[in-house]
Amino acid sequence: MKRVSVRPENAHQGALLRLLRDEGPISRAELGEAVHLSRSKLAVELDRLTEIGLVEAQGLAASRGGRRSAIVGLASGLRFLAVDIGATSVDVAVTDGQLTVLKQVSEPMDVREGPDAVLAVVLDLVGKLRADGLAVDLHGAGVGVPGPVSFRDGVPVAPPIMPGWNQFPVRSVLSQHLGCPVLVDNDVNIMALGEMHAGLARTVDDLLFVKIGTGVGCGIIVDGQVYRGASGSAGDIGHIRVDDEGPVCTCGNVGCLEAHFSGAALARDATEIARAGRSAPLAERLAAAGVLTAADVAVAAAAGDQAAVELVRDGGRRLGLLLAGLVSFFNPGMVVLGGEVAAGLGHPLLAELRSVVYRRSLPLATGHLPIALSELGPQAGVVGAARMISDSVLSHD
Ligand SMILES: [Zn+2]
Repeated sequence: MKRVSVRPENAHQGALLRLLRDEGPISRAELGEAVHLSRSKLAVELDRLTEIGLVEAQGLAASRGGRRSAIVGLASGLRFLAVDIGATSVDVAVTDGQLTVLKQVSEPMDVREGPDAVLAVVLDLVGKLRADGLAVDLHGAGVGVPGPVSFRDGVPVAPPIMPGWNQFPVRSVLSQHLGCPVLVDNDVNIMALGEMHAGLARTVDDLLFVKIGTGVGCGIIVDGQVYRGASGSAGDIGHIRVDDEGPVCTCGNVGCLEAHFSGAALARDATEIARAGRSAPLAERLAAAGVLTAADVAVAAAAGDQAAVELVRDGGRRLGLLLAGLVSFFNPGMVVLGGEVAAGLGHPLLAELRSVVYRRSLPLATGHLPIALSELGPQAGVVGAARMISDSVLSHD
């Protein structure tokens, strides 16, 4: 495979490239205005970017009176690889320079099989994309994993649901195999980036993205960038204490949000309710399937089962109280809820959350605060992974 390692040579070139990524092809005249470059300086930078193969001419703009301005866009051959490693599946996608997904392939895979087995599946999926003529000359790859990551080193750090991955050099191993720059982050951070790039949060620079899956986590975007904190664990809200009592959490503490409300907690509570004879539909489902999941709670609640409705309401209230504190502290421009449990519970969860947050946060923080369900769904991860690596490749550092 050909190695591609072109980068912008100065900050102006980086700004031009990221603008073309986010806005698509535009005329030289508009480009010059947007980055505050004189016509001659702009010409020098664009010539250089064309020469190194990052930008190409794409025809002429409609006349604004006088000479028609030439349209430029990112090189049509620009390709980013996006890898989203989940707890139970692996998704791999190839995007163009504007991060449009050209093709996405996926394979069920238990992350507990360990890094060798999982990365072999990733490379196998890359091979499939390559066989289709995609993923040949990659400019960079972004990778998300379901656990805490040292972003600087590109390694997972003591990830609770990823045995065998602690300190495994994901970034350097993949970089070696793919022949391009690679960045690794946790899945919640890349989903937050995906929401900012292509989702409802396109219009805001400060975002809280709350993922409710088996566990609960929060991606924090400050001024258009992921905020990771001093050691990379910012946003780990699942283990904030919301009650002095309650079930013991996977982390060993008592009263964590995740132990009260998460996919795992809903499955546990639903089973208890079904066994206690407090919900006929949940009991029927348990008898038929042998186990209950958060999705069963969503179905029962939607059908009006009182015990299931109360579970959703109680969870929404607990998460809402915590979120109200975060909103007062952080003053985000938007809160987006994602993850499969949030998607399954849908509007009843959203209604409960909104009511608690709007009642409990300061009016200045919530006056214009939209709280919404993700519309990107499972695509948030791959779009965000591509966004992460493109931010780096299309920057001069
Ligand atoms: Zn905990």
